[in-house]
Amino acid sequence: MIWRPYTQMKTAHTPYHVYAAKGVYLQLDDRLVIDSIASWWAMIHGYRHPELTEAIVSQAQRFSHVMLGDLTHDPVEALAERLARWTPGDLNYCFFSDSGSVAVEVALKMALQFYWNQGQSHRDHVLSLRHAYHGDTFRAMEVGDDPDYHFIVKRTGSQSTVTHISTEIKELEEAFDALHERLNCVIVEPLLQCAGGLRTYDVSFLRRARELCDRYGVLLVFDEVATGFGRVGERLASDLVTPDIVALGKALTGGYIGHAVTIANERVFSAFYDDNSEHALMHGPTFMGNPLACAVALRSLEIFEREDYLGKVRRIEAIAKRELACFKDPRIREIRILGDCICLETYDAQTLKGYQQYALEHGVFARPFLNYLYAMPPYIITEEELVKVIDVMKGWFNR
Ligand SMILES: *Cc1c(COP(=O)(O)O)cnc(C)c1O
Repeated sequence: MIWRPYTQMKTAHTPYHVYAAKGVYLQLDDRLVIDSIASWWAMIHGYRHPELTEAIVSQAQRFSHVMLGDLTHDPVEALAERLARWTPGDLNYCFFSDSGSVAVEVALKMALQFYWNQGQSHRDHVLSLRHAYHGDTFRAMEVGDDPDYHFIVKRTGSQSTVTHISTEIKELEEAFDALHERLNCVIVEPLLQCAGGLRTYDVSFLRRARELCDRYGVLLVFDEVATGFGRVGERLASDLVTPDIVALGKALTGGYIGHAVTIANERVFSAFYDDNSEHALMHGPTFMGNPLACAVALRSLEIFEREDYLGKVRRIEAIAKRELACFKDPRIREIRILGDCICLETYDAQTLKGYQQYALEHGVFARPFLNYLYAMPPYIITEEELVKVIDVMKGWFNR
């Protein structure tokens, strides 16, 4: 029995069986459908890309895995070097892990220990955003801001050292006034909060956060697990404002194998780099730096640059804006489009009930949640396919 994600097993419908997948298409039992959400936002190249498959196969023929404890290998060294160049500034120190949640845990552990190592253990507080989502592990859940995810933290009675604020600059400034001596970091999903409702906000908030962090010596952490690799129309949001630590996941491997990385700058790394063994970062996921994942991530980055993926994302954004420019419905509260993210927020979750089945009947796989109907298609989607995805979204309201 497969215990399914975010699912009440008793009332859930049977999942749709995938028999094959290629490009933007999933082959289900009786039909071919466009995957409009790229398998939880990861499959930016679409399915069965021959070069990505080849990268995995040829590495598997050498070896599929060795641990990083006292061992190293070409794919992980090449990827660390590549990521150091890919990320801005001196974000050069790559700590690999097997999922985005763990990459966020590592980032938070780094931020906390950064101060411990300097004898400042009173800096135990984290500033995070309302509607934040940073993963499903406990500490990541704690800095998240969705009541559904909070219950374990509440039950275990762990004392909260997290303050949530909105994306208003005024609230950010007030929080710094009140807390700056106790803060070790500010953590945000930059520009686009995904699982918290596909909410966009302005880069000026990030710039102000950078200034305040600099003034008070607080670390700025970007969770770019979802926003990285083109999603918001930039290679990374970190290209606009540079954090001290960035977490990457999801599309890191083009979505082909689960992997993630936490990248720290020189200042963070140097607080651990010491003769004192207790100042080492005590973390080590079993499958960190997996050679198959590193090999496919390297190839993914190569394709991303060679085939102008940023151009593709900006094209998706332009088409979506054009197709939705005149679209209105009294049940829709707001339409938000940023890069590869298209979101129709309705007033009422009831409005979207039955949408998944309707979309499937019209050749599109979608997975709206709460009152958010959205698409985050693979970047290789054609104009015709994208227009179809958007037409199905509009069609639901025009039935
Ligand atoms: C998906 C996501 C995570 C968690 O990544 P997993 O690989 O599912 O553990 C963390 N942060 C953000 C912003 C995400 O979108």
